[in-house]
Parts: sequence; structure tokens; C-alpha cells
Amino acid sequence: MATSNNSGNPSRITNGEDYIESLRNRPLKVYLSGELVTEPVDHPIIRPSINAIAATYDLAVSNPELGSVISPFTGERISRFLHVCTSAPDLVAQNKMQRRLGQLTGTCFQRCVGMDAFNALYSVTFEIDKQHETVYHDRLKSFLTDMHRGNFVIGGAMTDVKGDRSKAPHEQSDPDLYLHVSRRTPEGVYVSGAKAHQTGCINSHHLIVMPTLRLGEKDRDFAIVGAIPVDAKGITYVYGRQSCDSRAMEPSDVDAGNAKFAGQEAMIIFDDVFIPNDLVFMDGETEFAAMLVQRFTTYHRRSYVCKSGVGDVLIGAAAQIADMNGAVGASHIKDKLVEMTHLNETIYGTGIASSHQGHATESGAFISDDMLANVCKHHVTKMPYEIGRLAQDLAGGLMVTLPASADFADPTIGPLLEKYLKGREGFTTEERARMLRLIENMTLGRNAVGYLTESMHGAGSPQAQRIEIGRTMQLEYKKRLARVLAGVDTTVDRDEVADELSDYFARVFALPPVSTAQQ
Ligand code: SF4
Ligand code: FE
Repeated sequence: MATSNNSGNPSRITNGEDYIESLRNRPLKVYLSGELVTEPVDHPIIRPSINAIAATYDLAVSNPELGSVISPFTGERISRFLHVCTSAPDLVAQNKMQRRLGQLTGTCFQRCVGMDAFNALYSVTFEIDKQHETVYHDRLKSFLTDMHRGNFVIGGAMTDVKGDRSKAPHEQSDPDLYLHVSRRTPEGVYVSGAKAHQTGCINSHHLIVMPTLRLGEKDRDFAIVGAIPVDAKGITYVYGRQSCDSRAMEPSDVDAGNAKFAGQEAMIIFDDVFIPNDLVFMDGETEFAAMLVQRFTTYHRRSYVCKSGVGDVLIGAAAQIADMNGAVGASHIKDKLVEMTHLNETIYGTGIASSHQGHATESGAFISDDMLANVCKHHVTKMPYEIGRLAQDLAGGLMVTLPASADFADPTIGPLLEKYLKGREGFTTEERARMLRLIENMTLGRNAVGYLTESMHGAGSPQAQRIEIGRTMQLEYKKRLARVLAGVDTTVDRDEVADELSDYFARVFALPPVSTAQQ
């Protein structure tokens, strides 16, 4: 199976440095600010996003328990981001790794989309095969084996550009507004279309393309799932502009706020891109598109515990700047830090609970709890904004009126700025400026993309979670509970009400397995 990247870097990746080298010399067409980028690895705006993925490999080395697993396909140690979960503890471990990486990078480390995509596909391909006697599941396992051998990065590409939202894919005036099969040969299919705001796509080795919504019978050509090398012929990437990204081009690293790490979103344009048959995992089975989207979002919405790790950094920055300002003793400062922590742990609590309540699919892969995943992601659409507001409150207005680092370097005004912008004894003016720039970076600058707006819209905008929560909230069951206790309904006893448990409540009341030592 020809799955190694086209540039021919078949060697196995073991750490962050190997990973960065594996991205060099690929025949990519990447546009950024109107220019074709010659080598993304060395571009100052792109490199921080590559460093963030490199951190996932370095974590696997420094903390193999958290960052890696033994591949069931190859027997070798691989990144946990390549693992198909087969237990609730596997799902929980993903969340713990995500929080840790959020703490280490202060940004989006980009690997969860691919991870959640193939975890969802693992069970969906199994169920398609059962119904249609296709061979998608074995193909997926074979692809994953290949990815495990090289310890590669898999990116996921779901969100189509969508055109007229009131129309189905086949009704659009231009079929390219949803990724679709443009032609077929005995060897495979060709696809055309575009995927918008794709996290970490350029920093991946392979992309899994998937439909973005429920499809009807007439949308058969849009029901395509397959794996494509990132540097495949016919792909063009257009880099997303991030607030304050050009600060990465400046000689000083102070104004960047977080000079080392950033997220990445790009538009991917597919112009007649080939997918060989052995990398096609769905082709025309429209009735399974909704299942795939639903399972992917169930995994991905609890993956947003990543933001609790990023929140830890922002809480730390707020506490640190209060200290630098000499305000740390004030009771209202402490109270705000408590409030920020309460919000942050609420995100983590719901995400990790979703994983703890994971359950088996027919394929044997485990999936997290749908209701709690949606509650987690819905919190994420709001709480980082409030945590960010409180961080700005503690930072003070200087965060947005601070002169540029070039002014601090100027021989005439630099010494004056040093003198007048000094805070508490024990910290330099530059240290204070760096902390303010970090808070600016996370709430208004480059990493506000990941911490705030991606929190709002990534894995579905707030209304998408409300629809899912509404679909599974079991009002009839709850009304019945109330009627029985209020004496309105005397025809049913409480045991009968309990018999009506939905899947969600069955999971709520199921006790975790007890180890034999405790029995
Ligand atoms: Fe992972 Fe979070 Fe980035 Fe999504 S936003 S890819 S969940 S780090
Ligand atoms: Fe995302």
C-alpha cells in the first residue's frame, strides 16, 4: 500500500526533532499573505505551529505513559494520538494528555482532529461493512498500521465550505462547494472541492477527508471518505491569517507573547486529487454520513479539555502579572483567580466524565459519552471568554497600551520606558512586558484563535451542541419522574420509571468495574 508521503521520508519518527525534519522538502503548494511559501518548516509564521505538534512527540519521550501507547498493529511504541481506544481508561488518558499539552504549549497542538476522525471511522467502517459487505474496515486498519510504522501525523478534514446553507450538496450551483468524487477509474477515485479552517493540515503527513453533514440519496458522490498524503498532486493550501501573526517576523520575541508555539488553520483546495481504492473508507453509503459526523463530534467535543490546559497557563499568567504589579495580596484578586479556576475545572470535569462514561461500539472501539461531550464543548464556547475577561481585568490596561519592544531597545526612550513601566521590586520591566504580551497573545493575539474563537466554533458552533443536548435530554422520562413524586401519576411505581432508562442514564447508573483485589 503506497501510503508513505510523496517526498519519501519513510523513516520512523521518534521525537520532535525527527518530526520537524520529516516535514522538510515536501512538494507542497502553500500560500501565505499572497506568497507561495518555499519551505513551510522555516517560515517564521508557520514554524510555531510545527513546534506545537513537535511537543506531542517530545511528551511521548519525556512521559511515555501519558504520551504514547504500544501499537496493537506493530508492537512498537507510538504516539497516543495514533491509538484506537478500546477502553474507557484509553479515552481518559487522551484527555489527560490533551490537558498536559495545553499546559506545555498554551495553544492548539492540532492532532486531535485526526485522532478523533479515525476513532470514529473505526466503528463506522465496521458497521458499513456489516451492512454492505464492503472491505472498508480492513483497509482502515491497514492504513493505520502503515501510519503506526512511521509514527506519522494524521490530520482530519471535515468542514466543507458549504456555499448556500439552505441547499443540500447536490443542489448547490457549484458542486465543488462540498468535496465530492469528480471522476472514477479502476484504480480509485478523484475528488474536488475545498475544506475550510483545517487545523494542522499542513503539519500532517496524511489527511482523512470526511463528509461534514447528513447526506441524502442524491448526495452519493459527496459520501466519500479517504486518506490522502498531504503533499498529493492537486492540493493547494491557503494559510489562515491570525491576529498579530506578523509579530513573528520581528527580530525581538517579546511582542509575540508566545514566540515558540501557535496553532494552524488553513483552507485546503482539492483539484482532482487521486485517492487509491485501498485508501477509500466510504464511497456512496450516504446513510452512514450522519453516523460518522455524530461519532466524530462525540469524540471531538470532549477533546476540548485541551482548553483547560491552555486555561492553566492563562490563570498562571494572570496570577503572575498581579504579583508583578504588587497587587497579589488583594482579596478580590484571589477571588478572581478562584473564579477562573472554577470555570477551568468545570471544562475539564465534564470532558473527563464523558470519557469515563465511554462505552464499546460493535467494532470493539470505545466511544465517549455523547451528552457529556456536548456539555463539555458547550462550556468551552463560553468559559474561556470569561476566563480571558478576568485575565484582562487582572492584567490592567497596559496590556494593550504597552509600547513595542523596538521602543524599549531605542537608546533614547528605552531607559525612560524601563524607569516608568517598572512594577514591583524583584521583576524587571521586560519580565512584566513579557507576561502582559502572553496574556495579550492568548486573549487578543495569535493564540486567541485557539483559545477563544476555535473554542466557539471548532467541533461545531454552540447551537450544534444545544441540538444534541436537546435530542438526548429525555424530557418524557424526567416528566414521569416528577409526576410520580408529585402524586400526579399514581399508576406507575418508581421501579417502572427506572426501567425506562435511556442509554445515557443506563451509563450514569452503571458502576465502574471493581478490581478483583477489592472484591
Ligand atoms: Fe486538539 Fe484542542 Fe486543537 Fe482541537 S483545539 S485539535 S481538541 S488541541
Ligand atoms: Fe478543533
